Amino acid sequence: MTMKIKSAAAVLLDAEHRCEDSGVKLTSRRRQVLNALLQEDRALSAYELMEVCNRESNEPMPAMSVYRILSFLEEQSLAHKLSSANKYVACSHITCAHQHYRRPQFLICNDCTKVQEVEVSSEALVAMEQVAETAGFHLESRQLELSGICNDCRNSQ
Ligand SMILES: [Zn+2]
Ligand SMILES: [Zn+2]
Ligand SMILES: [Zn+2]
Repeated sequence: MTMKIKSAAAVLLDAEHRCEDSGVKLTSRRRQVLNALLQEDRALSAYELMEVCNRESNEPMPAMSVYRILSFLEEQSLAHKLSSANKYVACSHITCAHQHYRRPQFLICNDCTKVQEVEVSSEALVAMEQVAETAGFHLESRQLELSGICNDCRNSQ
């Protein structure tokens, strides 16, 4: 949960530098969508993001732009898409110097809907692929989205 240690402004600054390093630009609209994601622990749909952005700005952001921006953020590993919910979360490693070594995996709380980004060992992923292969099943996604109860919610029960 490194994300919470730094303020959203600091994360945005790091995101800007990362974009510069990759030769792309974090435009004000892209920044606005990423900022909206950073304000939340839970995943947001493109529609919810559009609403947040339009609440804050006089210049309406069409849904198409939000989708385009979200795929940009995904490409830059600044945000991730949860396929099961069709929603998006900000990457929790934006301020880390290291790259993603492994594909990010997600723990999603059923109660507060908070999303935690975690790494799964490559052994576990290989085992999963073998299971699929043995079953004659072709995997299109290797992203795990596990649901359960987070520590905060369990402690408050
Ligand atoms: Zn990430
Ligand atoms: Zn990290
Ligand atoms: Zn929770």
